[in-house]
Amino acid sequence: MKIAILSRNKKLYSTNALYEAGLKRGHDMRVIDYVRCHMEITSMRPSIYLGSEKLDGFDAVIPRIGATYTHFGCAVVRQFEMMGVSSVNESVAISRSRDKLRSLQLLARKGIGLPVTGFAHDPRTTDALIDQVGGAPLVIKLLEGTQGVGVVLAETRQAAESVIEAFRGLNANILAQEYIKEAGGADIRCLVVGGKVVAAMKRQSKEGEFRSNLHRGGTASVVKITPEERSTATRAANILGLNVAGVDLLRSNHGPVVMEVNSSPGLEGIETATGKDIAKMIIEFIEKSGKEKKGTRTKGKG
Ligand code: ADP
Ligand code: MG
Repeated sequence: MKIAILSRNKKLYSTNALYEAGLKRGHDMRVIDYVRCHMEITSMRPSIYLGSEKLDGFDAVIPRIGATYTHFGCAVVRQFEMMGVSSVNESVAISRSRDKLRSLQLLARKGIGLPVTGFAHDPRTTDALIDQVGGAPLVIKLLEGTQGVGVVLAETRQAAESVIEAFRGLNANILAQEYIKEAGGADIRCLVVGGKVVAAMKRQSKEGEFRSNLHRGGTASVVKITPEERSTATRAANILGLNVAGVDLLRSNHGPVVMEVNSSPGLEGIETATGKDIAKMIIEFIEKSGKEKKGTRTKGKG
């Protein structure tokens, strides 16, 4: 198959792992810097160019869209979909998962366990918002933050008010969330490929930090997950429509709660922690879905 990895940099661990895994399985692999692509969007025959080269003949794309380029990156993926190229994760599913509020609303509707979460706009509602999530301590998050940046633990009500006020002053969209203290600064990353959890790791934050992101100094180790955690992770990925997803869970007193679902999960941490070849599993998933000729469900409809 001819497979394109939509990634800014060939040297990134995940991009390289997918590239090598594809080559090993006999595919024609190519890394495309999607930010440099341009598209003719009004033609009856949608097309994509990289410089003067028309990008043609691909069977599948693996989107690895960075958070900074969600909007443009999703447009490129959508254009490929309209050309009949199947994407490992569809553009709609990627944009869904990038908006924390939107994903939590969709997950809640289907009964997935979540930390109690509130969202508001008007400064006059700050008090009610804090009460809604059970008062201090509480977590305040930027809607489109990533790698732990923009996630704040407010220990007191006063701190929460100041943080909310500061974010609002910057015109940032935020949500407030119950602090799951009993998770002890750890979370569980479940890697879902094609509707199955293929690997799981526990990330523990460094001392004095509540965020377990590896980028924030957290450490990863292999973990055995419960059947309930497994089904929560696969259901969450499925509800958002992601074939490949990193589902982050917290172990709360009221069972596993989903914190967020990532559409371009990093492979380095989890491959190192578990010793599993996840890149290969993703390539095998593409081979399988190519044979089933399922095509995309939404065909770039938005
Ligand atoms: P990001 O997208 O920046 O990774 P997350 O929502 O995943 O943002 O939060 C970052 C980290 O903060 C999580 O991995 C987790 O360790 C911690 N965290 C986030 N929300 C909560 C919460 N409600 N209770 C306890 N810890 C949390
Ligand atoms: Mg996270």
